[in-house]
Amino acid sequence: MNKKEERILDLIGFPKIKAKLDQNESPFNVPEEILKEAADSLKYLNYYPTEKLYDEVRYLYSEYANVKFENVWLAPGVDLYFDEYFYHFKNKGLVAAPRPTFFLFEKEAYHMGYEIIGSILKEPEFKLDHSFLNYSKQADFSYIDNPNNPTGNLIIEKENFEEIVKLNKPVLLDEAYYEFCNVTFVDLIEKYEKLGIIRTLSKVFCLAGARVTILIAGKEISKIMNKDIMRFRISTTSLLLAKLVLENRKYIYDVIKKLNYEKEKMINEIRKLGLKVYNSYTNFILIYSEIDNLAEKLKEKGILVKDVSFQMGKGYIRVSIGDSETNKYFIEKLKEIKDSNEK
Ligand code: PMP
Repeated sequence: MNKKEERILDLIGFPKIKAKLDQNESPFNVPEEILKEAADSLKYLNYYPTEKLYDEVRYLYSEYANVKFENVWLAPGVDLYFDEYFYHFKNKGLVAAPRPTFFLFEKEAYHMGYEIIGSILKEPEFKLDHSFLNYSKQADFSYIDNPNNPTGNLIIEKENFEEIVKLNKPVLLDEAYYEFCNVTFVDLIEKYEKLGIIRTLSKVFCLAGARVTILIAGKEISKIMNKDIMRFRISTTSLLLAKLVLENRKYIYDVIKKLNYEKEKMINEIRKLGLKVYNSYTNFILIYSEIDNLAEKLKEKGILVKDVSFQMGKGYIRVSIGDSETNKYFIEKLKEIKDSNEK
């Protein structure tokens, strides 16, 4: 690594490690031409973002997702939508969600004074069982991440999901990992006015640092999204990057292909080592092992992964899929740790 590169990593506070596999980011950046064009726009950073740009990005996303422009909203991060739901629909302070679910949702729920109720996902498939409908009936609204984080699984079929939205209570469906599995319930958006579906540019679009999260909202959910407020939350730079990646989105298919290929390779290698690894419909995998403090031991070797024992119980880690070289390094070190653990 040259001095300039080191200085940039230092500027952004990037950890000094070999493999960052803890936050399900893409290991690839957006194409160079896009970065150049976005950098040129920085000479107008003294101006606020325009409504025209906000709407252009909404339009481009609506075209990509095959939904109507008026159903699409943009915000800097999924938590902003969590907060909108928490704020607008609070009644008993109960929210139905799978257990476990996306840890940021759990944190935000407690922060906003909610209690989470919901069915426990059981191994090995981690499906959401029928009892969830009863939890949804009791709750102010329901949140379902499909695929689920941290298990990486598709946890609900469309017909069961439809029973939940049919209750006519607000529902937030999180499809952040949609592109890795191609499963979406987006066609329900016209029919169910209290349904909102989350998508993101943080994964296959490789734009996690820009914080651009999309909500595809049914009619009633759209009504609570106040455009004058929403559009000032997001920066010109992020909107511009969003516009450029959506206009030049061909590269995402290559990212999806590479990461899905790498994922299967990782799963095979980990199984060969005799550790338990679950099927995944995302860009991360869930691993169970009996090695004590595995996340800590990996960290000593320069690898960051997410220890999810606080959600899943002892022994579980969540590992993002990196590029080929990083994954190879991960497998090598995992093997070393496992071998020395058996001695
Ligand atoms: N939803 C789920 C289920 C996730 O796992 C993640 C990423 N960790 C997000 C949303 C994050 O989306 P964003 O980066 O757009 O805030």
